[in-house]
Amino acid sequence: MQKISSFLGSIAVFVGFALSGCGGGTSSSTSGEKKGSPEHIKAVTGAVDDEMLKKQMSDSKNWLSYGLNYAENRFSSLKEITTENVKDLGLVWSYDLAAVRGVEASPIVVDGIMYATGPWSIVYAIDARTGKELWKYDPKVPKSYGEKACCDVVNRGVALYKGKVFVASLDGRLIALNAVNGEKIWEQLTVDQSKPYTITGAPRLIKGKVIIGNGGAEYGVRGYITAYEAETGKQAWRFYSVPGDPSKPYENKAMEMAAKTWDAKGKYWEAGGGGTMWDAMAFDPDLNLFYVGTGNGSPWNRRHRSPGGGDNLFLSSIVALNPDNGEYKWHYQTTPGDHWDYTATQHLILADLKIGGKDRKVIMQAPKNGFFFVIDRTNGEFISAKNFVNVNWATGYDEKGRPQEIEEALYKSGAYEAIPGPYGAHNWHPMAFNPQTGLVYIPAQGVPIVIEDDKDWKYNSTATAGPHNGVGWNTGILASAVPPKSVPFGHLLAWDPINQKAAWKIDHVAPWNGGVLTTAGNLVFQGTADGRIVAYNAKSGEKLWESPTGTGVIAAPITYEVDGKQYVSIAAGWGGVYGLGMAHSPTETPGKVYTFAIGGKEKMPEFAKVEQKPLLDGIEIKATPAEIQLGGKLYINNCVFCHGVPGVGGGRIPNLGYSSKEKIQDLDKYVLEGVLADRGMPNFKDRLKKEDVEKIKAFIQVTVMQVKQQMEAMMKAKKQ
Ligand code: CA
Repeated sequence: MQKISSFLGSIAVFVGFALSGCGGGTSSSTSGEKKGSPEHIKAVTGAVDDEMLKKQMSDSKNWLSYGLNYAENRFSSLKEITTENVKDLGLVWSYDLAAVRGVEASPIVVDGIMYATGPWSIVYAIDARTGKELWKYDPKVPKSYGEKACCDVVNRGVALYKGKVFVASLDGRLIALNAVNGEKIWEQLTVDQSKPYTITGAPRLIKGKVIIGNGGAEYGVRGYITAYEAETGKQAWRFYSVPGDPSKPYENKAMEMAAKTWDAKGKYWEAGGGGTMWDAMAFDPDLNLFYVGTGNGSPWNRRHRSPGGGDNLFLSSIVALNPDNGEYKWHYQTTPGDHWDYTATQHLILADLKIGGKDRKVIMQAPKNGFFFVIDRTNGEFISAKNFVNVNWATGYDEKGRPQEIEEALYKSGAYEAIPGPYGAHNWHPMAFNPQTGLVYIPAQGVPIVIEDDKDWKYNSTATAGPHNGVGWNTGILASAVPPKSVPFGHLLAWDPINQKAAWKIDHVAPWNGGVLTTAGNLVFQGTADGRIVAYNAKSGEKLWESPTGTGVIAAPITYEVDGKQYVSIAAGWGGVYGLGMAHSPTETPGKVYTFAIGGKEKMPEFAKVEQKPLLDGIEIKATPAEIQLGGKLYINNCVFCHGVPGVGGGRIPNLGYSSKEKIQDLDKYVLEGVLADRGMPNFKDRLKKEDVEKIKAFIQVTVMQVKQQMEAMMKAKKQ
């Protein structure tokens, strides 16, 4: 039992590495065209320009950009739905995304025309009043990208501008589609596909340019963000977040400055250095500043990346750029010299706050490191930071905005339980800021993980999510066999950014809950890991309404108005890096878009109950203890990242501990013949032999039995 518990402890770490880091009416529109007709779509999407995007700050009838508006505050001015009538919210329609991987998108809506994305970067155009599909576009991402993506084959949505819909595909392409019919207008390859780059983020549209970053810092890439002309797809500018090979010229003065904060003895350019900008962006049109959050170091462990130390700019930073040419303006680094995958790619929100009697233009962020930051967005000056969850890597921040680090957190000797762990105290799940309550609503969480220095780490240029490397990726960190002491949690946290303290908090059953929406109706909406969408009073946190969603929710709800009626939509579909191996919803259903309105009368679809019976009447185990142990090693290195611990949890990818006897007997077929390649399951024929698969089979069955015994012992102890 001791063995299995330490194995489970190490599994928790291991999984942590994943974190980085898959109606009907026909009312007429304002333009006089029949809604949903090509003429209408052409007119209303063609009208989306800079002026209309800017107006989203005060008038949010539509949902025109990933974060609603340039400030990315996800605060809608709509108030037909209130704390009084939200109890009458009912389903109007649901649309089946027919996808069983994570759904992270915020749909875009203009005058009742909705553009959503699902797994594998597929785009759906839907009539937002009826749920009728208008068109669908599949960029046909090679399924082999399933193993290249650290954090599921997800996509967070599209951008819309002057009649074009822009989507970035998992394999690194930026594609412009005709908003009327989904036909491709142009396509640009934005990455070197020989390197492990992927894109999951939603592009943003700033002054005629479509801007997109990328991910991959867990495997080893150099992060950058690129702007393309929306009209033609021609590249306008590119900004790297970390310096490249110092034997080559610096791209700009900012890179020259950044290079001074790295130690070349670490040959950081081999593993790329990281700093990938895979999610957060914001824009202040008055200051003409574009803001972007940067990711963790590659590798995670600074001792390998930059052995002499240094801040390693611009890792884990908020960087301000000139959106016209990509020129560096200022930066603030939330985690100098990051050792823990503490990305600052998390949601950025712009707001105007009165702090200490002064009006301040601020940018706010709750990055993975567990502190809430308020920064002056005109110049990057530090205003305040306060931990919004329990943390053990720093005691606080000094007046200059430097963290006061705790020595043990550098895991120089042995096991260290990083709090927060690499899943972050807050990950990509969007927050929301309500200027009426003055509160920021944060999907906060804790996922315990114990880490150790990987003293023998060497850059592996072929590292991918599953095969080859197991725990290794290119993190320079090892899974520790020591089980974590802290417990997992998920909160909806209402945070007062001026006084840096919690106003109220909702405890969820698990981590990895959905993003947040807030409205002028004094409401907060959030989906949950256990398969619900819930409305709360924004001031008090009182729960006012909920509906089942059939599957865990990770994306954020949106709201918009069509023909004078307010709707709330949510793209539901469990997954993402945590959801690959763990799930908390009592029912399961493929990804769906749900739309609610006051008086909605549609029935919810039927959901299948999750029934996971451990595989116990297995095949005769012929393996020796040594072979089973080897099977465990092979399982960890090749299978656990996606399939989880046999018999524990069970996420979006099947847990092999619940497979049928027949499936386990035929495991070689799935592993060595590539029969599930169309679902993203790699073919392991060049990496595993038939006798290896036999050992893995034995390990799965032994583990399931041990887990069952352990559970029974725990239940018995609980009863006593
Ligand atoms: Ca990461």
